[in-house]
Amino acid sequence: MEDEAVSGAQLIAQALRAQNIEYMFGIVGIPVTEIAIAAQAAGIKYVGMRNEQAACYAASAVGYLTGRPGVCLVVSGPGFLHTLGGMANATINCWPLIVIGGSSDRNQETMGAFQEFPQVEAGRLYNKLSVRPSSLEVIPAVIEKAVRTSMYGRPGSCYIDIPGDFVNLQVNKSSVKYTECCLPPPISMAEHSAVSKAASVIALSQQPLLIIGKGAAYSHAENNVRKLVDLCGLPFLPTPMAKGVVPDNHPNCVAAARSMALQHADVIILLGARLNWILHFGLPPRYRQDVKVIQIDICAEELGNNVRPAATLLGDINAVTEQLLEEFNRRSWKYPSNSEWWQKLREKIKNNEERSKGLALQKSLPMNYYTVFHHIRELIPKDCILVSEGANTMDIGRTMLPNFYPRQRLDAGTFGTMGVGLGFAIAAAMVARDRTPGRRVVCIEGDSAFGFSGMEVETICRYNLPILIIVVNNNGIYTGLDANSWEQILKFGDLATCVPPVSLLPNAHYEKIMSAFGGKGYFVKTPEELQNALKASVADKQTPSLINVMIDPQSERKKQEFPWLTRSNL
Ligand code: ADP
Ligand code: MG
Repeated sequence: MEDEAVSGAQLIAQALRAQNIEYMFGIVGIPVTEIAIAAQAAGIKYVGMRNEQAACYAASAVGYLTGRPGVCLVVSGPGFLHTLGGMANATINCWPLIVIGGSSDRNQETMGAFQEFPQVEAGRLYNKLSVRPSSLEVIPAVIEKAVRTSMYGRPGSCYIDIPGDFVNLQVNKSSVKYTECCLPPPISMAEHSAVSKAASVIALSQQPLLIIGKGAAYSHAENNVRKLVDLCGLPFLPTPMAKGVVPDNHPNCVAAARSMALQHADVIILLGARLNWILHFGLPPRYRQDVKVIQIDICAEELGNNVRPAATLLGDINAVTEQLLEEFNRRSWKYPSNSEWWQKLREKIKNNEERSKGLALQKSLPMNYYTVFHHIRELIPKDCILVSEGANTMDIGRTMLPNFYPRQRLDAGTFGTMGVGLGFAIAAAMVARDRTPGRRVVCIEGDSAFGFSGMEVETICRYNLPILIIVVNNNGIYTGLDANSWEQILKFGDLATCVPPVSLLPNAHYEKIMSAFGGKGYFVKTPEELQNALKASVADKQTPSLINVMIDPQSERKKQEFPWLTRSNL
């Protein structure tokens, strides 16, 4: 039988499919167009985006949501460079991702080829692996290694560089080193003595606190984590993206007393979260000097960062939580629900919730953040996937909008990246369409955050993804100007020297971007208009929509004991 020829593009597509890759996001052009076409032919879903950065964010969100990396496909030089933010964001969030970049033809290298750039070298800083296959024959093996590396251990991004001349080059199938799908990540468990030490520390605690991080969400540990909370009666606090691992309305959730819980806990069980800026490094004054931290993580190098832990449990969160469950079942220990610590926490929760309620019910116009989120909470589906970014929009939204299911909140994350929202929403909608049909994606954006990738609205409409985007519009970054002040500047000032750097155009009609592409756009200024627009958007399960909500440009967060998430105040 004659040997069949296969092109580089086909080899890449088939190798990705062999590794069970389902989704590819990108922008085609020389030299990668044929790769996208071959990917579709191999059964991979391809979503053409408008900016490589958003494509890369989308692919990384697939990795977080499904546990298998999405692929971002880009052209050489500038196309590749636009993915740096996405690769860094994925690696810093510990999410698996594969980026495939076309590059110059091999025989033009160093000659000033079209869009020539040292991509493999540049990729090293952002990726667990940055490689270029040396021949067509090894492409499947390189792709297997990249997919495996992205998922094993602490997940992260991997970059594969494809010389332009590889794409249409052909080889005989018989000479190709075909590679089977890599095995699922091996599951590691903590050493027995560490489990028993951790349990002893927890059992002696007076004021324990369980912190659930997005590692717990990523590892699908929700059932075991919930059992642990229930069995041990522990107060718990989710980090922003771990909301929903245990539902926010669980009676042991102390999110509304966050600062106090962190500040006074004597034992903290850290389940898949790093003691970085989000958790104030685990240091005073946000924590007790003598707090005992029990760290559970898949990455050994993480253990001991910033604090000297009382116990370290190295392993997969789901498996280690199971070990803890066994240990506590044996000990039949439960933290008493009538302790002084619980009483203090409950009192604080009540007070804080009342303060938010007061702000939410304010009738004055323009609306404040709390009023807007109050209505959103009342009207969006309970099981929707929430994507959120912006400054106050994200921070206040996090406290006001509950999550009831795991992996249903995506936000600016560990890297604090603005501009991720639309890419994440597109990825979530693609995954939801395949896995949980009918589940809606609600993407709540500050007006500034929306601007980073606003043209992806066209992508949303092109693929007919019924995403509901809500732009919480305060005319600026952090704060903005009202229309009158703007008029004054126009009359008397030089725009470039007088417009505050935080300002964006007042009353910008972002909803028209949505209607321009066939979706529904709403411009709302009052609670009634907001309610009507929300009801209509939620009821229409087929059409993408954008609600542009005008709020008071000077609206702020309620006063914080410790202003959170502002670096200067750490
Ligand atoms: P958060 O933003 O919620 O605080 P981080 O991203 O800081 O969470 O931390 C997540 C942690 O989870 C990382 O240190 C990562 O190594 C860890 N992790 C990821 N997957 C697993 C897993 N399967 N088992 C254990 N730890 C994991
Ligand atoms: Mg804003």
